[in-house]
Amino acid sequence: MNSMLATAQAAIRVAAKDLGYDDAVIDKFLEPERIHAFEVKAGGKAYPAFRVQHSSKLGSYKGGIRFHSNVSLDEVQALATLMSIKTAAVNLPLGGGKGGVIVDPKQLTRAELEELARGYARHLTPHIGSGKDIPAPDVNTNSEIMDWMLDEFEKELGEADPGAFTGKSMHKGGSEGREAATGRGGVVVLGEYLKARHLTNKPLTVALQGFGNVGFFFAEILQKEYPAIRLVAIANSKHTWLQPKGIDVTKTTVPARAPRPEELEDLKDAKVLPSDEIIALKADILVLAALEDAVTARNAGSVKAGVIVELANGPVTKDAAKQLYKRNIVILPDIIANAGGVTVSYLEWQQNVAGEQWDEKRVNDTLAAILIPSTRTMFERAKAQNISYKQAAFELALGRLLG
Ligand code: NAD
Repeated sequence: MNSMLATAQAAIRVAAKDLGYDDAVIDKFLEPERIHAFEVKAGGKAYPAFRVQHSSKLGSYKGGIRFHSNVSLDEVQALATLMSIKTAAVNLPLGGGKGGVIVDPKQLTRAELEELARGYARHLTPHIGSGKDIPAPDVNTNSEIMDWMLDEFEKELGEADPGAFTGKSMHKGGSEGREAATGRGGVVVLGEYLKARHLTNKPLTVALQGFGNVGFFFAEILQKEYPAIRLVAIANSKHTWLQPKGIDVTKTTVPARAPRPEELEDLKDAKVLPSDEIIALKADILVLAALEDAVTARNAGSVKAGVIVELANGPVTKDAAKQLYKRNIVILPDIIANAGGVTVSYLEWQQNVAGEQWDEKRVNDTLAAILIPSTRTMFERAKAQNISYKQAAFELALGRLLG
């Protein structure tokens, strides 16, 4: 079993035992409802492919499709299980699923990539759809790939069902606000924490690891909505840039698109440090928007921030989280803090099923209206039971899934 699956299952077991469920109930929940393992051909070669449909207790399966050479059935199962927890934690009427193909898409021509995407969707046609299982993009898959998959699926099915895939391009029924949704959700969740502590107007500082899709939109929306808060450091996989006077992420040499750190005006005279030093910088809030396992038992002792926001999936390991909890460092957990993406996927599906197209304001307002109560309930439960936010979020999700 890979470590992600073992970690996910262990966290679920602890939370479910705390709620009083016995082993037989927990074992049954951990077992996916259905595993599809098959092969998809592209350019004359066959690639192993999976779709794990973990739980449909709360609604249709929902989860991304990943094209990567490190994909394994265990990893897909772990991610499907965590999707069941995430959709339940934010109270969406959806279940959990995940898909993957063991392939390095960089080795494929564009025509082969399309063949792979279409083959994947064709194989799964009887098992997916807006009322059954709704895939979305994940690592190395994007709106164009979702458009191909939907087209193939609808051809095979013989009728239109645009809600069968989310993360589509706008002209195929995609949603306004989807690109920024995960970063925006992170700001909403952090904002609720700051409001509860009366900190929204305090001159707090933020260090941000990861400046891709999630990190950039998080920073942009944060500076707009909480102008008193100052972003003082950004890291990507190469460097950390430290700029104590503050970083305006909209002042860039490439105004038409999301910038790389090198393209930010305020980083021109920043101090440049090794990439991993972001973890130990002096800042009030550390935002993790890069990869899993960024804070481990090895570097947790160096964290100086009082609050960590998990925007990546699993950026703080279980052992590190235990150490941080003992030091009263707050973690806003991934299953709530990065649920903005799946929430707007759900809104895309709602728009498709109703034949509607909402404007961006309606999407953003609805996103906040879904995340805020879930966040507040997590805070209340953690306080009442004297447990971490992560434990509280898992317990809330499992209460809905096992009850
Ligand atoms: P991305 O590929 O656009 O950006 C990743 C960023 O992390 C880049 O700036 C990269 O340089 C940086 N990075 C990579 N390795 C690093 C390292 N060792 N140290 C410091 N920085 C490093 O990815 P993204 O879409 O922004 O996603 C970021 C994370 O959020 C991923 O873990 C993803 O699974 C998770 N997530 C994304 C979404 C979404 O909607 N995109 C939703 C939920 C969770």
